[in-house]
Amino acid sequence: MSTIRTAIVIGGGIAGHTAALALHKAGIDAAVYEGYATPAEKVGGPIALATNGVAALEVIGAQSAVLDNSYPIAHQVTRIGSRTMAMPSLPDLPPMRIVLRQDLYAALQELAADKGIPTYYGKRLVGADQDGAGAVARFADGSSVTADLIIGADGVHSTVRTLIDPDAPGPSYTGLLSVDGHSELDAGDPDVMSFAFGSKANYLFWRHPDGGTIWGANVPRPAPMSVREARAAGLEHWRQTLLELYGPDDPGGELIRRTDPDRMNATGAIYIMPSVPRWSRGRLVITGDAAHAPSNSSGQGASLAVESAIELAKCLRDASSIEGATAAYEALRRPRVERIARQASRINRTKTPGRLGQVVAASIMPLVMAAAMRPEKIFGPTLRYRIDWDAPVSV
Ligand SMILES: Cc1cc2nc3c(=O)[nH]c(=O)nc-3n(C[C@H](O)[C@H](O)[C@H](O)COP(=O)(O)OP(=O)(O)OC[C@H]3O[C@@H](n4cnc5c(N)ncnc54)[C@H](O)[C@@H]3O)c2cc1C
Repeated sequence: MSTIRTAIVIGGGIAGHTAALALHKAGIDAAVYEGYATPAEKVGGPIALATNGVAALEVIGAQSAVLDNSYPIAHQVTRIGSRTMAMPSLPDLPPMRIVLRQDLYAALQELAADKGIPTYYGKRLVGADQDGAGAVARFADGSSVTADLIIGADGVHSTVRTLIDPDAPGPSYTGLLSVDGHSELDAGDPDVMSFAFGSKANYLFWRHPDGGTIWGANVPRPAPMSVREARAAGLEHWRQTLLELYGPDDPGGELIRRTDPDRMNATGAIYIMPSVPRWSRGRLVITGDAAHAPSNSSGQGASLAVESAIELAKCLRDASSIEGATAAYEALRRPRVERIARQASRINRTKTPGRLGQVVAASIMPLVMAAAMRPEKIFGPTLRYRIDWDAPVSV
């Protein structure tokens, strides 16, 4: 039975509030410390939550709060020029759900507040100490707080990851920036997400249930840009950049031309995490993107973050020591997240942007589709994964 009573959760994003809710359910007191001074109001566009992620939210009682703020998309297609190919799927599973990032953050944070879990804003972790008695988190404002354990749910640029291992790898920049928007054009069929190979860059789009089309663009750029830098460049700048990239593409060009810059978001560089050798050291452990951020082509980043945060809490509930819990957690999660990351990087190799990418994709797509005639083998293990909260973890 666990002797862990208190936890400090660093990061008030998806993994952070999920971890706090799951810890609460496990009987462990948690408080969330977020670096930004205020809750996120407009932190980026839509997130697609996969079936496994939506199912995991049910474990912490968050499913209906999230579903109320989301809508389903049941089908996916790939578009190369004028050719459209349906992507294989598992029709017996519920569809993915689209939710705005700020709505997801807010739903989880409100649920946590309802359960008496505090979230402190303006608390940027800068250091940590630990000994046999506990762990101390030190913040940039000079304050500190002590608990049995510190959980780093602090995203791809995690500070906790470096406190665990100063030699830990950092995130890899994919060479792409993300810009999204809501166009007044109705493009493609309702209930279908289209992944389109443009003549210079790739993009995706789907119809919004209230009208118009949501699009997401991957803008190639040699150097990364933070969200702040991307926003400082101004939305008119991004509109012009997107017109240069997608102008001749159908429907990419028209989607951009018929988007009011006020309905666009520039969210900065897209990163992935290489395999992180150490997920924990003593009373410090990481979860979510801090430990594993697969390529966005996996569509699994947020869902895996939710799963890992919950399974970490489960291990902390059942273990008699922190080291036992973190070892069990890593053994449970690492094979799954690394398999999905490998699968996503194989998909990426078939998604070279530009004319060359279109030619390559057109030639290999029938083979990819043929291979994917076994969707159960390819998607089943990822999408059918369910967390059995009541089953004890063997530690
Ligand atoms: C453009 C884009 C589109 C995406 N689309 C999808 C999608 O459709 N589907 C999907 O599943 N995934 C998607 N992802 C991935 C998904 O957003 C992440 O996997 C998910 O947000 C990870 O959650 P997290 O809580 O681990 O990290 P985050 O959501 O990044 O939260 C980390 C939090 O920690 C805080 N923090 C950081 N450092 C500190 C510190 N030192 N002290 C205190 N607080 C700190 C941050 O301010 C932040 O609030 C997308 C990612 C991007 C960039």
